[in-house]
Amino acid sequence: MDAATPITPCIACLNHKGGVGKTTCAVNLAAGLTRLGWRILAVDADPQAHLTASLGLSAADDGGLAGVLAGATGILEAVAHVGALAVLPGSAALAAAESRLSAPDAPGNRLRQALAVVPGLDAVIIDCPPHLGPLTRQALAAATGVIVPMTPDFLSMQSLAWLMETLAGLSDHGQAPAVVGIVLNRFTAQKRLHREVRDTVAGHFPGVPFQSVIRENIALAEAPSFGRDIFRYAPRSAGAVDFAALCRETATRLGKTPPTGAEPISR
Ligand code: ADP
Ligand code: MG
Repeated sequence: MDAATPITPCIACLNHKGGVGKTTCAVNLAAGLTRLGWRILAVDADPQAHLTASLGLSAADDGGLAGVLAGATGILEAVAHVGALAVLPGSAALAAAESRLSAPDAPGNRLRQALAVVPGLDAVIIDCPPHLGPLTRQALAAATGVIVPMTPDFLSMQSLAWLMETLAGLSDHGQAPAVVGIVLNRFTAQKRLHREVRDTVAGHFPGVPFQSVIRENIALAEAPSFGRDIFRYAPRSAGAVDFAALCRETATRLGKTPPTGAEPISR
């Protein structure tokens, strides 16, 4: 690649804490940015394969990301499509892939190398597992940026402090992607604790949290069981409105402000 070739943004949805909204963010950012006209590849790097199921796909048996990491499948043949969105599915086989990747001589950049051969993408979005193991390391080696979803509670804030320190430590060694933003998920403005967490996080990491927060919204919890992103499942829901705003803000932070009037939700 020559110096003039722009690097495709590759965003890892990352938090070692489970249940904070990594998958919800990865699915709906990928779907929303696709609706804004971006060519997106969503990568499911979690052996639980929740992104895959949330988009209505079956977990790939030995294909998908596990096959790609094993060198058994080419990435182009492993990719599935949901409308205009390209998806590299996950599966339980990723657990075995993860243990192979933990060997000291295992290559740390297999995912990055695989993604480099996919042509014509505007961005890649990776859904990470809830720990900083070898699969997350593959994601971090491929990523140009991370988005950190968190819930508005004390323990989530503690995890965030540790995660941001860990990322800063990696960046001292020139290995860390930039933090594109922190997403406050399951936010309820009426709850004092939620407002306090929002203000504390903004105070500790000025400018890093997104302006858009994702409210607690039942449609976001229901959509995965229908295999649909929020824009297809409930386009008028608070979840769709919040993710539309987050997609616009993400696009802007990645340096490509969508044209006025372009919205992931069709009105
Ligand atoms: P993670 O990938 O970090 O483990 P998920 O995205 O799977 O977290 O979210 C955990 C659970 O919470 C899922 O059942 C999801 O549908 C639900 N959920 C996530 N965000 C919201 C929200 N804003 N409102 C309601 N339910 C949510
Ligand atoms: Mg998940």
